[in-house]
Amino acid sequence: ADEVNIISGALELKKKTVEDIMTRIEDIFMLPLEGELDFETLNEIRKQGYSRIPIYDVERKNIVTILFTKDLMFVDPDDKIPLKTLAQFYNNPCYYVFSDTTLDIVFKEFKESQKGHMAFVQKINTTSSDRDPYCETTGLVTLEDVIEELIQAEIVDE
Ligand code: ADP
Repeated sequence: ADEVNIISGALELKKKTVEDIMTRIEDIFMLPLEGELDFETLNEIRKQGYSRIPIYDVERKNIVTILFTKDLMFVDPDDKIPLKTLAQFYNNPCYYVFSDTTLDIVFKEFKESQKGHMAFVQKINTTSSDRDPYCETTGLVTLEDVIEELIQAEIVDE
């Protein structure tokens, strides 16, 4: 029954971490801060269909802000507006969680915060011998990812 699935899903939240369910950085649809909203880019945004687009500066791991697709609705491709202009105008903040955070904790944070329902996953990288351990972005997680675990079924977006 659905109830049984939801209860067992809820119990599983404590056992899984954001790293287990995140969308990995290489799979994130993001755009460069130095880019512009020309016809091709707007077309790609439409094709990808995500409601939020991370914006990175130089390196994909260096995500600096998020743009909401709904805010791009009236952008004219002929204007070729620089992404930087919109990024500075909206100035949407990014939120972070550590990779080992369990899903019950992120779920609570998503519910309680006014921060929006996307967080970037941070991991301490200790593998490189020629530098000190450092924090790096390895993926993103949204409320939808957590709810999917909760109900243990794929949510099909209508
Ligand atoms: P949307 O509102 O764009 O449909 P959701 O928050 O419903 O996004 O998340 C749906 C799935 O898509 C989740 O697995 C989430 O991790 C992933 N996702 C969200 N935004 C992006 C993006 N820009 N690039 C790649 N995956 C994304």
